[in-house]
Amino acid sequence: MNNKIYDCLIIGAGPAGLTAALYFGRAKADVAVVEKSAPGGKVITTSVVENYPGVLSISGTDLALNMLKQVNEFNIPFYYDEVLEITKEDVFKVKLGRETVYARFVLNATGTVNRTLNVPGEARFMSRGISFCAICDGMLYQNKDVMVIGGGNSAFEESLYLAKLCKHVYLIHRTDQYRASSILVDKVKETANITLIPHTVVKEFKGNATLEKVVIDTLGKESELNVDGAFIYIGYLPATSFLKDFDVLNELGFVVVDDNYQTIVEGLYAVGDCINHPVKQIATAVGDASAAANNIIKKL
Ligand code: NAP
Repeated sequence: MNNKIYDCLIIGAGPAGLTAALYFGRAKADVAVVEKSAPGGKVITTSVVENYPGVLSISGTDLALNMLKQVNEFNIPFYYDEVLEITKEDVFKVKLGRETVYARFVLNATGTVNRTLNVPGEARFMSRGISFCAICDGMLYQNKDVMVIGGGNSAFEESLYLAKLCKHVYLIHRTDQYRASSILVDKVKETANITLIPHTVVKEFKGNATLEKVVIDTLGKESELNVDGAFIYIGYLPATSFLKDFDVLNELGFVVVDDNYQTIVEGLYAVGDCINHPVKQIATAVGDASAAANNIIKKL
């Protein structure tokens, strides 16, 4: 597949990247997708999606699979590889782990990576009690006690998911102000086996082979909670480090784009959770991507 020049290379196969691929496929553009892990992005780690218009309720995995099935109708090549470097001469040269790909346009849809707490024990118990994905790992903690850390939609949604599997869920948040939507906060408050613990931070994760307890601090008072699992949902950082030489990132690492989703570099576009727009939703990622793809298609 190498040494040819694609019309556009889409980086990332979450909802944004897959939507762009769908629009390019329908326009018969010559595009390819690069994805470093599984197609679907963060959505496949979401238990249930209930705010995507037209779909009453669907698991994140099924929604992502449906998007992928739609794209697969168009025989678009996928490179399952990591982008190491992008440079631009006449066209973009995108260095992957195993090969180099060339394209006239690049559409970056790499989304975000999980933010970590950076406290003692976190690295040691990662995947040995600590997880970023309730839907992937929740079953390991059936009828056990778990902790969720965070105050946003992810923490609240995934606490509700875990409450169906686990004996008890302790939802820890550093203040009593929640970014989660009030409908989710209300649902959590109404769930008997979830305890909301506000004004509390994690000091340390402890255990032997696997996680056994978490040292927490509530308004200066330390205590220990015995849990088998801890799920960290404290937000995300943009997955954009390979773009840093282009000077297109803001101080937080999000890609700055214009109204057409183009960066200051001609031909370099970005969409979805990795851009400097405040709302991060599947619907907004999909909206960004359809608009950006159409803008690029007009230039082909
Ligand atoms: P988020 O909305 O950015 O919330 C992150 C939470 O983690 C905040 O409560 C924050 O506390 C806390 N936090 C950040 N750093 C921390 C630290 N070092 N220690 C302890 N707590 C920390 O993240 P998210 O919930 O993952 O959501 C990300 C985006 O996806 C949001 O835009 C969200 O709306 C969207 N999303 C939407 C849905 C949905 O609509 N169904 C579902 C999931 C996610 P502070 O508030 O004190 O800063």
